[in-house]
Amino acid sequence: MGKTTRYRFREYHVTAVADPMALPTFEARCVTGEEQDCAATSGELNTPEELTLWIAGHCAQTGHQSYEQTTRTVVHAEPGAWQ
Ligand SMILES: [Zn+2]
Repeated sequence: MGKTTRYRFREYHVTAVADPMALPTFEARCVTGEEQDCAATSGELNTPEELTLWIAGHCAQTGHQSYEQTTRTVVHAEPGAWQ
C-alpha cells in the first residue's frame, strides 16, 4: 500500500467477545505418519483439559506423538470511520 493506492479501506476494531456463547473451542488433529497423516481428530472440545485427555487417550491407543492443535475464538469487528 503506497501513496498511489486508489482504494480506501475501512479501519476495523477487532475485539474479543465476552459472550458466553462465544467461548473458545479446542481441536486436535493427529499428524503422525510417514507418507500420510493419521488425521484422527478430537472434534470440537470446550476446554484444554479435554483436549489433553483426547491426545493422551489417542497416544495410549496408537503411540502417535505428533498433533496439530487449533484454538477457535469468535471476535467482533466494529467498522470505524473512513480514513
Ligand atoms: Zn493418530
